[in-house]
Amino acid sequence: MQVVLITNSDSNEIRDLFIRLQAGLPLTAQEKRDAWPGDFTKFIIELGGKASGKKTWTGHDFFRKVLKGSAARGNQRKLCATMFMQFYSRRNNKYHPESFSSVNALDVDNFYQHHVAFDSNAETSHAPRFREVLDGAVQLLGDGRRPRLEAHMGYNVILLLDVVMGNFAPSWRGQFIKAFDQFNAQLAAARKSKDPSDEYWSKYGSMTGVAASSKGRVELRYRFFERQMLQQFTELVPLDTQRGYSLGERELVFHRDRGVCQLCRRAVDWEEAEIDHIVPHAVGGKTSLENARLVHRLCHARGAKALEGYRDEDVPEGSVDKPWEEERAPGSKMKLDAMGKRVSTKSLADAGMLPDGCQFVFRTKKVTVLAVFKEPHRFVYEDEFGTQEFSTFRAVVALKASPAHVWDNTEVQLPSGETRSLDALRAEYIDVFGSSPADDDEEE
Ligand SMILES: [Zn+2]
Repeated sequence: MQVVLITNSDSNEIRDLFIRLQAGLPLTAQEKRDAWPGDFTKFIIELGGKASGKKTWTGHDFFRKVLKGSAARGNQRKLCATMFMQFYSRRNNKYHPESFSSVNALDVDNFYQHHVAFDSNAETSHAPRFREVLDGAVQLLGDGRRPRLEAHMGYNVILLLDVVMGNFAPSWRGQFIKAFDQFNAQLAAARKSKDPSDEYWSKYGSMTGVAASSKGRVELRYRFFERQMLQQFTELVPLDTQRGYSLGERELVFHRDRGVCQLCRRAVDWEEAEIDHIVPHAVGGKTSLENARLVHRLCHARGAKALEGYRDEDVPEGSVDKPWEEERAPGSKMKLDAMGKRVSTKSLADAGMLPDGCQFVFRTKKVTVLAVFKEPHRFVYEDEFGTQEFSTFRAVVALKASPAHVWDNTEVQLPSGETRSLDALRAEYIDVFGSSPADDDEEE
């Protein structure tokens, strides 16, 4: 006999449960979980939604507007709990390839039992980030312009958004919708034709039926989804993880800029001094001394406003108002050639400095990109799931390495066996060639 202790319901709810039990409707596994004490239960009920007795939790819009609803009692909450478990496991294991979690009924029970001390307001519980990601998904997909998502796609969206949201300049957002709709169109066609030679069927569609929530299937589907989506993201510019300047750095910049506001050129008192990112943080500018300038607090606000929506390509050629261009070049990781353009891997390839068969290796992570430079320019990336082609280097590496280390720690193994840093190759390129070919529009 199973005994369930109801601790967090009002009397109407208990009466409702009693009547249902008398009518021969036993509690579902999720309804039993809803009775667990603690904040995790509350967190899932608030997000997944629940209506019983006199109290109603409407649930998060992700479960109401983005995901396909379910009439089954507790199903949305169960889905919310298993999505959170997967999300939690990935974050807790630093997105290690083996960090996918098993989410069968027993695993969910165990998760509830092991997290009675869960604090949904603590960063360490990953709950605030989960809400943030759900909000992000609603912003992107909550406009009602496409069919609601099945559960398998809900997992993908949450896991991918967790990787990209806040870690890259937001320019990928525009590409997300297009890539997502394209993925779903190809998936729908594959599920209709069931053509085994179509990878949308063999690597995804065939795994959306029975036992669709098993750990292996969630993982394989996500891998395929992530890869197809990333190929479409050509605009992944990593954000510096550190947003603010330390007190020591503020002092250094204050003295370096001789106490003069770099925007209005008037003297600044220490009390009104602020440090401004020359290339805005929101578009990938680093929190480095090279990217810092002293400004008045009031000038700072105006300057930030003026730079809203800043993008490299929006700045007119020959514009005098480009202080960041001069200041970014010396010592900057983004090497600029004599034309003021960043030296792209394509320029390096065109100049013969990255011949066919090079491999990019990140010191911080064992990820290998087999680079093959042909027309059209592309990269072949290899991992335990096979090989895949990407049109930009950035699309491959940005998600495979920690954003903070993508550009600083990349080594290139040349076919001769020689190993060079990517940064050193860029510097050599500038020495030899000075400027990029005119048609070089792709930048890393
Ligand atoms: Zn000023």
